[in-house]
Amino acid sequence: MDANDALRRYLEQRRELGESELVLDSLSVEEAMKLLGAATGGSKKSAKAPTSTDWRAAVRAAGGAPEARPSLGTSVPPEVLEEVPTLAPRAAAVPATAVHVPSTQTPSAPMVALKDVPTGLIVSGASRALADDIAAKLASIEEIAATVAKCTRCPLYATAKNPVPGTGNPNADFMIVGEAPGANEDEQGVPFVGQAGQLLTKIIGAINLTRDDVFIVNVLKHRPPGNRNPLPEEVQACSPYLVRQIELIRPKVILALGTFAAQTLLETKNTIGKLRGQIHRYYGVPLIVTYHPAALLRNPAWKRPTWEDVQLARRILDQ
Ligand code: SF4
Repeated sequence: MDANDALRRYLEQRRELGESELVLDSLSVEEAMKLLGAATGGSKKSAKAPTSTDWRAAVRAAGGAPEARPSLGTSVPPEVLEEVPTLAPRAAAVPATAVHVPSTQTPSAPMVALKDVPTGLIVSGASRALADDIAAKLASIEEIAATVAKCTRCPLYATAKNPVPGTGNPNADFMIVGEAPGANEDEQGVPFVGQAGQLLTKIIGAINLTRDDVFIVNVLKHRPPGNRNPLPEEVQACSPYLVRQIELIRPKVILALGTFAAQTLLETKNTIGKLRGQIHRYYGVPLIVTYHPAALLRNPAWKRPTWEDVQLARRILDQ
């Protein structure tokens, strides 16, 4: 696959994930034009045919200078990032005020203080939102699961094999919210058990947590047929369960995985590129947005920002 194929594939993945705009790191229009072989700035200079499989290398070969997006200070060496999809060992104990830095790591950039991380969107009013909903009367996570198992609020219950109400520690300080169950989750009634789930388990392990330490849940509790995107009316019908779960668990931090979960929770259409790198508030609970593990499997280039995001969430947890 040459650089143009790599770039096309990258753009297709972003589009599949629902992103309507794109920031190619610090790529300027001129640089993008060079990459695509167009004349730029009045010059007839033709870009040398790229041979690298990395589109950034192709940009550099064409005279551009793509730079990494400004880091939050949790810089991680490439060798560690490469391990993210296959992170086997649990990280050593995470210091209370800093992220874990392997001893093999080159010196990292100074870490940005949490108070200096931009404040994002604020969503509030949960009690009012749930006041007239049956979910508000559910007194425990177990009651929610039992109610979900009998729920017929939207048509998804009829096509799904099993309800997937959520799993983990009902007293967790760290809560993870995904989109909807997939085929494996539908089979087992447990969220994040497929390949993406295995990756999520490794990501959790990389910040020194286990699945038993956290509570994992999806916005939708039943699988949309064929893994299609959830419909707005399905989200509206199912959201009270999620809001009540958050109310009961009262985590210290929420990690929203992927565009859909982030946009649903934060009630926005902003792209994930705009939502990540900030500390949002969901009914008072700090909320961090990052890429969905399934997207990471398709696009390893998102490992670094994901690594930064989960470490930011870990730092909030440690506070
Ligand atoms: S997806 Fe949610 S609202 Fe729809 S039937 Fe399942 S639990 Fe009920």
